[in-house]
Amino acid sequence: MKQHPITQAVRIQTPRTNEMEHSTPLFLTSSFCFDDAEEMRAAFAGENNNNIYSRFSNPTVQEFIDKMCVLEGAEAGFATSSGMSAIFGCFMTFLNSGDHLLSCKSIFGSTHTIVTKYLHRWNIEYSYADITKPESWESLIRPNTKMIYIETPTNPGLDIVDLEWLCQLAKQHKILLIVDNCFATPILQKPAAFGADLVLHSATKWLDGQGRVLGGVVVGKKELIQELYLFCRNTGPSLSPFNAWLLSKSLETLDVRMQRHCDNAEALVKALDGHAKLNWIKYPFHPSHPMYAVAKKQMTRGGGLVTFDLKGGVSSGVKFMDALQMLSLTSNLGDTRSIASHPASTTHSKLSAEEQESVGITPGLIRVSVGLEHVEDIIADIVQALDKS
Ligand SMILES: *Cc1c(COP(=O)(O)O)cnc(C)c1O
Repeated sequence: MKQHPITQAVRIQTPRTNEMEHSTPLFLTSSFCFDDAEEMRAAFAGENNNNIYSRFSNPTVQEFIDKMCVLEGAEAGFATSSGMSAIFGCFMTFLNSGDHLLSCKSIFGSTHTIVTKYLHRWNIEYSYADITKPESWESLIRPNTKMIYIETPTNPGLDIVDLEWLCQLAKQHKILLIVDNCFATPILQKPAAFGADLVLHSATKWLDGQGRVLGGVVVGKKELIQELYLFCRNTGPSLSPFNAWLLSKSLETLDVRMQRHCDNAEALVKALDGHAKLNWIKYPFHPSHPMYAVAKKQMTRGGGLVTFDLKGGVSSGVKFMDALQMLSLTSNLGDTRSIASHPASTTHSKLSAEEQESVGITPGLIRVSVGLEHVEDIIADIVQALDKS
């Protein structure tokens, strides 16, 4: 009987050892042994599936990958030490000197830095489309465009790209399409189902969901993952088995956690809608979102991130942050604990006002990663801080 992906995310497990453990074992070992020279020869020749060395593969890491493949509906995967090493590994595997990358400005900050500050070292060009104008993407495609790289929803603008449309565009022009699915998680959105070639994550966020470890993962078509695997097994961004063990256990509760994060986010949006101190509130499943219809088409729910804009600008943003009593002031997201951040005075403070605006950041923008505390406590803390902002 074929099981649902969320059942498989609970039950997939490395084969039991002789100890007959119920929960999943942790293989903290850098290398693996062979019975004899012939078995070792065959492993190195790729004639059996034996593990050789944990930079290449490890059973605990593979268990995490297998669960992610099932959840994303993908054939194969590779896990990395962080989200950024997953992203950089993809760029280095699939982009060659002379290639062109098409993306948009509102990608994650460190991804933006790789694209704008480092790719030129390898003679790789890039263009940024306007995420809000679909026609701008096609006009920027060149004969040497090798890859389209996007996030949806974006961080922190919560902009949405129409995956069905973009996948068709990429296919039509035979361009590799990579989607950072970090904000939605496979519970809320499955880019591979629309035709994305590779889907990647910062596992540090919702996948761990408890603010404990860094990790990354890329899943997708087998032949592409094989290329990525060969690049990564030699260059070394592999995920630690210990982190993989935590992440694999986390996936057993991913669906339950995401449903509650969404419940709490929806309740928060409802409570703050029309609040006198706010210019607006943004959430993918709120009808005022410019891409509401697209969000409804490609996501099952709106996710755990909510942004709103304080009428008083930067100084109100700072006052709001200082007035919070429970929410954590930290730059992470996707935790059991609710988190608030004020991009204009922190992560994006080095950008000019114009540059901030172009990535959807206003002076009074607050980003809330809605946690798993009782929703009344989350709302109460934010409302009392708004009163003082
Ligand atoms: C955090 C994040 C990353 C980077 O992941 P790390 O695990 O911190 O390296 C990439 N993309 C998005 C959307 C993120 O939020």
